[in-house]
Order: sequence, then C-alpha cells, then structure tokens
Amino acid sequence: MNTIEHWIDGARTPAGSVRTAPVHDPATGRRQASVLLAEPSDVDTAAAAAGKAFESWGNSSLSQRMRVMFAFRELLVRHEDELARLISAEHGKMVDDARGEIVRGREVVEYACGIAEVLKGGFSGQVSRDVDLHSFRQPLGVCAGITPFNFPIMVPLWMHPIAIATGNTFLLKPSERDPSVSGLVAELYAEAGLPDGVFNVVHGDKTAVDAILRHPGIAAVSFVGSTPVARYVHEQATATGKRVQALGGAKNHAVVLPDADLDFAASHLTAAAFGSAGQRCMAVSVAVAVGEAADALVETLGRKTAEITVGPGDRPGSDMGPVITRAACERVAQAVGRAAEQGATVVADGRGLTVPGHEGGFFVGPSLLDHVTAEMDVYRDEVFGPVLAIVRAADLDEAIGLINANPYGNGTALFTAGGEAARRFQREVTVGMVGVNVPVPVPMSYYSFGGWKDSLIGDSPIHGPEGVRFHTRAKVVTSRWPRGGRSVEAAFNFPTSS
Ligand code: NAD
Repeated sequence: MNTIEHWIDGARTPAGSVRTAPVHDPATGRRQASVLLAEPSDVDTAAAAAGKAFESWGNSSLSQRMRVMFAFRELLVRHEDELARLISAEHGKMVDDARGEIVRGREVVEYACGIAEVLKGGFSGQVSRDVDLHSFRQPLGVCAGITPFNFPIMVPLWMHPIAIATGNTFLLKPSERDPSVSGLVAELYAEAGLPDGVFNVVHGDKTAVDAILRHPGIAAVSFVGSTPVARYVHEQATATGKRVQALGGAKNHAVVLPDADLDFAASHLTAAAFGSAGQRCMAVSVAVAVGEAADALVETLGRKTAEITVGPGDRPGSDMGPVITRAACERVAQAVGRAAEQGATVVADGRGLTVPGHEGGFFVGPSLLDHVTAEMDVYRDEVFGPVLAIVRAADLDEAIGLINANPYGNGTALFTAGGEAARRFQREVTVGMVGVNVPVPVPMSYYSFGGWKDSLIGDSPIHGPEGVRFHTRAKVVTSRWPRGGRSVEAAFNFPTSS
C-alpha cells in the first residue's frame, strides 16, 4: 500500500516519522493509502530547510519570483485533470467540482504573478531639507499553513503563492484525510524552478500542528479549519510571538424574499447547500424563507432536492459524492434525527442511502428540514454535510436579526428583485462575505477572503491585499544627503522637519 511521504528540501522524504494514518476512498470506504504523521523532529527538519532557503529566497528578485509563479500557473493548467482526479479520489467530491477549486486556487497564483505591482512602496521627496523618505515591505521568514480537508488544493493555494511571491519560505501541514495533492503541488513548484526548501509539506495531526505552533523558527501561521481549532491555533501561536490568521467554521444563511424569482433561488440554494455534499465553508446551511415566499420555496426546494443524483466522484452525471469519513456520515444522520425529534419537518431524508456497487462508501443523501428554529441543535451546530435547514421569518428585519444573532459570520446571501432591500441587507448584516442573488459569494483573488465573528479568529482575512500585508512587514527609511557637504546642526530637541 502506498505511503504518502513528506516533501522537505525539494524531495519526498520519510524523515523520522513512524506513525501513520489511513487515507480512505470515501466512495468505497476502503483504505487506499497511508500517510505519515510527523513527529516534532520532522517539523524541525522542514523548518530548518525552509529557514536555510529563506537566506537566498528572501533576497531573490521580484522578476525571479514572478517567473516561477508564471511557470507554476502553467503547470497547474497542464496538470488540472490529474490534480482533480487525485482530489476526488481522496475527498470524494465530483471531479468537475475539484476542477472548480483548482481554478479558484489558481487565481491566487495569477494574483501572485503580478506581485511586483502590489509590493510597490511609497516615496516622499524632500520631507525636510535634503531629507527623503521611502517605505517598502519585506518578507517575514518561514511561514506555515495548516489546512482543512474540504478544499485540499484551494485553501493551501490561498496561502503559499502569496507567501512565496512576497519572499517567504513555506511549510504546509495539509489535512491528513486527503494529503496526496500537496505532494503533487510540491513537484510542480520544483518543476517551475522554485529552489529546494522554499516550499515544504509535512503531513500530520495535532502533534505536527503543536510543533509548528511552538517552533521558534516559524514567523507566521495561517490556519483554516473548524472554529475550536482556529481559536486554539490563534492562542498558541500568538503566545509564541507569531503572526496568525485563523479562519474558522460557518453557518451560512441565505434569505429569500417574496419578490425573488423562486425557481432561480431554489436552484441556486440546492446547489449551494448540497454541492460537495455540503462540505464547503461557504455552503448554504440555512435558508430563511420570508413571509409568503415560504410554502412555495419549500415545495420547489423539495422537488429539486429529490432530483439530486448521489454517486462516486468520478461517475459522470452525479451531482454529489460521499462525505469524508464514516464518522461524518453518522454525524449527519444523527443531526437529521435529532432535528426531527426537536420538531423540524423532514421534507427530504438523506439517511440510510446506499449507492449500488458502493455499499461501503460514506454516502448520505441530501436532507431538507422545514420549520427549523434557532433553538434546535441542527441550527446551532455546524453540521458540515448535505443538510439544508429552513427557518421561516416574517420579514427582512427578522431575517437580518437571526443572522446577526448567529455566532458565525462567514458568508450570507439575499435573493430579491429589490435594490433597497439588497442595499439594506449588505449594510446591516454582521457577516464578512455577502451575496446578492449569488449564493456562494467567494471573493476573487484580488480581494481578500474572510468572515466575521467566530468564522475568523484574530483580524486578518486571507489572500489578496490582506494576504500580502500579512506575509510582509513594513519598513520606512528616512535618508539625508546634504548638498555640498553642507553641515546640518544636530539638535537635542526631538527632530522635526525644517
Ligand atoms: P479541522 O479543524 O478538524 O482540521 C483543520 C486542520 O487542523 C487539519 O490540518 C487538522 O489536521 C488540524 N487539526 C484538527 N484537530 C486539531 C487539534 N485538535 N489540534 C491541532 N490541530 C488540529 O477542520 P476540517 O474538518 O479538516 O475542515 C472542516 C472545517 O473547516 C469546517 O469547520 C469548515 O467550516 C472549516 N473551513 C473554514 C473555511 C473558511 O474559510 N472559514 C474554509 C474551509 C473550511
């Protein structure tokens, strides 16, 4: 059986690891590989390689960095099919869905291809007599990324192209559930001309994460995953003086007003709730049906949910694949059962679904729950599976109140034909990313991605301009070149400009 190794200093390496974890094919439930789980000594080895590489990469020219990014971008295009199939085989999502995350991640590389434009500093001439001032940004050193299972290529791509293009070196600790694609990304970077040690991959679990958080040679940590772990990472890493960006979980609401095109809204809601089996941080998990929209919306959603085809990720014609583990499958089924016990109406029940020929797979069908209230567990918990809860609200004010009372604030959307309601919604919701008739409002790479409240711990969104700021620190230089050796009197008073 294949053992997935770390990538350290430009080569696949078993390093000192002895522990492994199984990597399953979620469509069959079978173990298809093992992944090494790093010990702290492996993190030390990778951090040392990254630290050594920083000595030269930190001083590489912008032209060299951009050349590597352009070449890397071309390789991501050329290998798209291979990457998508690798992701689908370990994650379970549809191959075309995996292509989608590759494209969205590649857009961050495209942003990094123009890093020279973004990294321009400022200059002010003659701020005082014979004195000029300029500012520029420098890399931090070794940066680390700790990433979740649900976007095994896109989420790391939110981090490392920006880190590397701004002159840092990088250590990635991807999810141990679908680790293979990170090794292929490392090979593509090497083929693109990235020097050894600039990009490293260390596989592992909490042991590896803790070693990263405590490592004195690591300057910054980017984390994306569930909120409790985001909070832990933020606390631990800031305690050792690191810069941290930590994105957490979500409970994304989409509000449907009575003036919306209900068929359009229901189609988009169904795709946004059940695409990737609901395992997206921007998945819609709550539909808020306002006023007289409710009955018709539930009826249309029910019809569209019944039309969803569930199957393995590489089977053409399927809409939705399995969830990531058997435990996730059971968690989803329990959430639906508890919702029914607590008074929700089960419009579509995905429990107990089997896919012929894939009886051992981690499949659970889409579930649609009506009459959900804010007190029910299915509303309060992040289910992270194919479950759409419908909450009924009297008007837009009640819908906004519900969203703002929710501890999460990642994404939200409003379906309406009215500009006034749309404008009020986008200004009043306490959520970081807002869609108007767009159910999954993931910002483009030249903006930054990040939620509010428990969906982002700390204050730094990811990629785009905020990603550049996060991975660099500013320096301001004040210089004087007196003309003709003209002497400048030194003053004991605090210097002011003359
Ligand atoms: P997770 O929090 O379980 O794992 C994320 C990473 O942390 C993994 O690399 C894992 O190995 C590590 N980890 C897990 N438990 C740990 C612990 N106790 N101590 C230290 N490290 C630990 O998340 P997941 O299940 O892989 O991914 C799903 C979660 O990620 C969902 O909550 C989802 O909303 C969230 N997510 C958020 C965003 C966002 O942009 N806000 C994007 C994608 C996923």
